[in-house]
Amino acid sequence: MPALPPSVAETLARSADAMALNDRYLNPQLGRIVRTLGFDREWVRGEGAHLIDAQGNRYLDLLCGYGTFAVGRNHPDVIAELHTLLDAHSANLPQLGVSALPGALAQALVERAPERIVAMVPANTGTEAVEGAIKLARAATGRSRILYAEHAFHGLTLGSLSLNGDENFREGFGPFVPGCERVSFGDRDALRAALSPGDVAAFIVEPVQGKGVNIAPEGYLAAAQALCREQGSLFVCDEVQTGLGRTGRFFALEHWGLDPDMICVAKALSGGFVPIGGVLVSEAVRARVFDGMERGVRHGSTFGGNDMAAAAGIATLRVLERERLVERAASLGKLLLELTLPLVERYEIVRDVRGLGLMWAIELGAPAGGRRRAVWNAMERAQTGLAAQLLVVPLFDRHRIFCQVAGHRMNVVKALPALVIEEHEIRRFAAALEDVVADADRMGGAVTRLGWDLARHGARALLR
Ligand code: PMP
Repeated sequence: MPALPPSVAETLARSADAMALNDRYLNPQLGRIVRTLGFDREWVRGEGAHLIDAQGNRYLDLLCGYGTFAVGRNHPDVIAELHTLLDAHSANLPQLGVSALPGALAQALVERAPERIVAMVPANTGTEAVEGAIKLARAATGRSRILYAEHAFHGLTLGSLSLNGDENFREGFGPFVPGCERVSFGDRDALRAALSPGDVAAFIVEPVQGKGVNIAPEGYLAAAQALCREQGSLFVCDEVQTGLGRTGRFFALEHWGLDPDMICVAKALSGGFVPIGGVLVSEAVRARVFDGMERGVRHGSTFGGNDMAAAAGIATLRVLERERLVERAASLGKLLLELTLPLVERYEIVRDVRGLGLMWAIELGAPAGGRRRAVWNAMERAQTGLAAQLLVVPLFDRHRIFCQVAGHRMNVVKALPALVIEEHEIRRFAAALEDVVADADRMGGAVTRLGWDLARHGARALLR
């Protein structure tokens, strides 16, 4: 008989063993990446916009669990509501029966969504919400083709992966779901042509792409929606990353006045406590898919709409509203852009700084010539996208700021702060960024050595 697994309290006290446990029983390659980047801290606590290590050092967490901790880690109000739920011993998941919490969460989301949206089809994760949207689009339209954008990321299960615009994720997992077709992001003519046969079920798109933080050209998303309507195709916004205040609006789609047929949500909705996901749908989609009692349970999953996720969701929405976090994301995002845009003028290697609300990125490019150009080229030859790590690693080491590169083979560093981040932390980040950018721009000895070190270890940050 194996030994009794240690209790939660005993296991929490073993934070020093986390890397060894990961390497042995989870994913040793992730362990190698974490060590190569020097990110192998012994994490013991999460608090608001921060992660805290065993020595009590506080790190500003701009990865934010890939965007899940928007209301801050371990928000006390969400914890209190989860305690209330656990203490209530609720009649969770009667399955052939219903409880009030998932319905109340759906109501709250529908009331905050554009008019066309009337209901929620629950899921448990972002990718499951996207899988749901694919199935619902096919069933609602009787068509099979699904369009998606270049550089798109919608999750890593097979249906969502079939809509992934990055070969690094796709390689080795084909063949993919038939009928999925890539169009260039921002290109109306390409979309018009792809829709023109009239056999497309849906175009699924992130309003701001997570990989690279690409913001659509002005007018593109509204035009895409109109083109879909003309052809009887559904227009689906994947707001898994952009939703719930991240971009300074409750849904990013509000920036362009969009009115999609479906909206995918997940990540931040549960305050980061439990997996959650959902597809918000129009009446037409709901009515066509669930079109009779015999078809009443044709899509769903065992844990979809469970009380724990729904309670966390409702509590999170209450925090977002009470603390005015959507407005906060808008104003702090504006400040972050104001503070960081001047870097484009000041440093040759800074190609672009962009963002919407608290979804922000800086893109690097090669210096014009001379020794710095030669060093840059050599690093890029060793590994495309390596230069971005020249910011990420010292931000962590020197400034205790935890962030990530924004995708494979791109020199883009991304920040997704918790929406509760303080203004002084935004200013601290901007100052720290300038410090590491100035160093990278000089391409001095230390930076060059770091570059070679990373190249030798084949560091490529894992990203969602
Ligand atoms: N869609 C988008 C836009 C995402 O950013 C992600 C995750 N990064 C997903 C879907 C997949 O979500 P999950 O990891 O919860 O499956």
